[in-house]
Amino acid sequence: MLSTLIYRSRMQEGLAAHEIEAITSAARARNDALQVTGILLFDGLHFIQVLEGPDVAVDGLFESISRDQRHCHVVRLLRDYAPSRRFASMGMELLDLRHYHAGGGLDALLARVTATGSQTYEDRVLKILRPYAEGGWKDHFVEGTDAAQWIFPPVDDALPLQARRLRDGQPCQFALQPIVEPLSRTISSYEALLRSASGGPPDEYFSSLPKEKLYEADLRSKVHAFELINELGIRDCKLSINLFPMSLVALPDAVDILLRQISDATLTPQQVIVEVTEQEAISDLKTFASAIAELRRAGIGVAIDDFGAGFAGLSLLAEFQPDKLKIDRTIINAIHTDGARQAIVRSMLQACAAMGITPVAEGVETVEEWCWLQAAGVERFQGYLFAKPALNSAPPVRWPEAAR
Ligand code: C2E
Ligand code: MN
Ligand code: MN
Repeated sequence: MLSTLIYRSRMQEGLAAHEIEAITSAARARNDALQVTGILLFDGLHFIQVLEGPDVAVDGLFESISRDQRHCHVVRLLRDYAPSRRFASMGMELLDLRHYHAGGGLDALLARVTATGSQTYEDRVLKILRPYAEGGWKDHFVEGTDAAQWIFPPVDDALPLQARRLRDGQPCQFALQPIVEPLSRTISSYEALLRSASGGPPDEYFSSLPKEKLYEADLRSKVHAFELINELGIRDCKLSINLFPMSLVALPDAVDILLRQISDATLTPQQVIVEVTEQEAISDLKTFASAIAELRRAGIGVAIDDFGAGFAGLSLLAEFQPDKLKIDRTIINAIHTDGARQAIVRSMLQACAAMGITPVAEGVETVEEWCWLQAAGVERFQGYLFAKPALNSAPPVRWPEAAR
């Protein structure tokens, strides 16, 4: 099957012009053998390459290109299928964009690319190449900072805050995971993640309940989260709790119950953020909206969780604007290598800025992901890179330090 792949990358510092020529001629021979055609654009610092050919050949070639040490920040911009080759007549040509910026610009370039006459300016590949050819691509894309600039020293595990013990008869418990601002080294909140009595995941607890008790049990479980925070003496940062939307709807006095739990643990509503997802259809949007309004009136913060995954979508965001938007980890995963995810997150961040919403990136596991997100303007992070959830205690955080 004929497939097309486009990526962008940045030249490794100190690469000489003749080396670039050598790379291209080696690539040309290799690509011929693989029946891969395309085009390689270079602007003095960045490469953008279109590869087209049999899908197995293209994927294998891209894998080895990604590992090539002579360039870095390799970002895949497109992977698509096509009925025919766009660059069949060209082999693999190196085009120095600087000549085209100075000369006839995009049109001169496209005239060469589209020499076969079979292409139109509407073509998707050409649309992607356009900002590069015009020289303005940096307005459209974020380049992450270098992960090598940072080290994450191991934390002193001997120093976690004291873990609380499970009380007799307590049906469930909580793990805490910090949400951090790495550059200012602050913990902005702890998220309380439900665990079964034996320490298992939330589903283990929920599936042990009769279905008609699910929402009430979800709501009532929070008393243990508030008590935990109180006993650990965490007063200077917020506590995020998770609730099914229906847990705010199923009981008529759900918000009052929550407020009583909060004050019984000598916490304040202003300390608390409720995270909701759209894991399930909200059967009664009107009651849900009024529960949200009640939370807001009481001073409790609201976050949309898992944004971009499954059901947590744009209509929920359009319906009510939360204090925080937590971008789901399926969007965050390997974002530094993925042009589609980067474009999506950039537009989420624009929407957040326009609505005064604080974005949070969830599930950050690698330094590279963090570096890209921070460069794109995200300031708050949650993920294994910084700290894993700790049962009944507040785990130590790994803070990044500038290398050397
Ligand atoms: P969530 O609210 O999105 O919580 C984050 C989940 O991602 C947690 O899973 C956490 O352990 C995991 N996580 C955190 N950092 C990373 C990372 O870097 N990589 C990966 N792969 N995972 C990471 P957990 O604790 O199993 O919870 C799963 C989900 O269960 C939660 O997702 C939340 O939607 C739900 N949940 C948790 N506690 C409650 C609760 O009290 N009530 C309700 N209704 N749902 C809850
Ligand atoms: Mn959550
Ligand atoms: Mn989440």
